[in-house]
Amino acid sequence: EAKRQGKGRICVYTSDMTDTVRTRLNLEQGLHHALERQELELYYQPVFSMANERLSGFEALIRWNHPVSGVLLPDQFIRIAEESGQIQSIGSWVLDTALQQLSQWTEATGTALVMAVNVSPKQFLQDDFLASVELALRRWQVPAHQLEIEITESVLQDFQRSRGIVSGLRELGVSVAIDDFGTGYSSLALLKHLPVSRIKIDRSFILALPGNARDHGLVSVMLKMAGSLELEVTAEGVETWQQAAVLQQLGCSAAQGFYYGQPAPTATALHDAICRHDRG
Ligand code: C2E
Ligand code: MG
Ligand code: MG
Ligand code: MG
Repeated sequence: EAKRQGKGRICVYTSDMTDTVRTRLNLEQGLHHALERQELELYYQPVFSMANERLSGFEALIRWNHPVSGVLLPDQFIRIAEESGQIQSIGSWVLDTALQQLSQWTEATGTALVMAVNVSPKQFLQDDFLASVELALRRWQVPAHQLEIEITESVLQDFQRSRGIVSGLRELGVSVAIDDFGTGYSSLALLKHLPVSRIKIDRSFILALPGNARDHGLVSVMLKMAGSLELEVTAEGVETWQQAAVLQQLGCSAAQGFYYGQPAPTATALHDAICRHDRG
C-alpha cells in the first residue's frame, strides 16, 4: 500500500502491518546510513588450487554489522539493496574495498592472488560498470588478471548487454565466473552466449559427495564439459576431506568451502588461509 502511494508520501501504518514489512522498512532505511557509518564489512574466504593445495585467492563476501541486529548476511539485505536502488553504491564500495585489500595482500605475500567479487545483476548491467572496474583496478594498481567478477544467470534478463559487458571485462583481462552453476534453468544458455572463463559448481552438487552416485555423475559431467570448453572450475561448499578427495580425483582445479576455510574478516583471513596451507 505504501509503495503504491509513491515515494515521499507519509503514511500511517495500521497495527496489521506485518513484522516482515516493518523489518524490511527498517533495513532499507538503515542501509542508507550503513556505508557512511562504516557498518559494512567484507569477509574473505580462501580459494585453493587442487593440484598443489595452494592458496590461489579469496572470495569477498559482504557482511552488515547492524547496530541492533548484529551481523547480517547478504541474503538478508542484498535483495533490499537491489530493490531500493542502493546496490550501486554498495557494489562500488565492495569492488573498491576488495581491490584495496588485494593490493595489500599481494604486496605482503609476493603472490599474485586472485580476488573474486560478487556482482548483482543491477550493478553489472549498469552503463558505467566496465568503467568503474577499470578505475578501481587502476586506483589500487591491481593487474586485471587478479580480479574475477562473479555473476549469476539473472544477468540473462538483458542478455545482449550482458554479452557486451562480459566481453569487455575479458578484453580488460578480468576473469568472469558463473556463480552457483547448475542451479538455474539456463546454465547452459549462459555458457552458450557469454564468453566467461570459469564456472563455480554450486554447493548443492557437492553436499552429498562422495556417496551420492547421481551427484557424482553430474559433477563429473560438469567437469568434462568445462574441460572441453576450456573453462576453469571451482567447486563451492567443500566441507570434508572426502569431498575434496573425490573432486581432486575428478580433476577439479580449484575448491573453496569450510574444509579449506570459513569466510573471515580482513585481520585474520590471510593468516588463517596460510596456516591451513602449512597444516595441509
Ligand atoms: P556465493 O557467492 O555463492 O557465496 C558462497 C556462500 O556460501 C557464502 O555465503 C559462504 O559463506 C557460503 N559458504 C562457503 N563455503 C561453505 C561451505 O563449505 N558450506 C556452507 N554451508 N556454506 C558455505 P554468504 O557469505 O552468506 O553469501 C551468500 C550470497 O550472497 C553469495 O553466494 C553471493 O551470491 C551473495 N553475496 C555475497 N557478497 C556479496 C557482495 O558483495 N555483493 C553481492 N551483490 N552479492 C554478494
Ligand atoms: Mg560467489
Ligand atoms: Mg555460489
Ligand atoms: Mg549464492
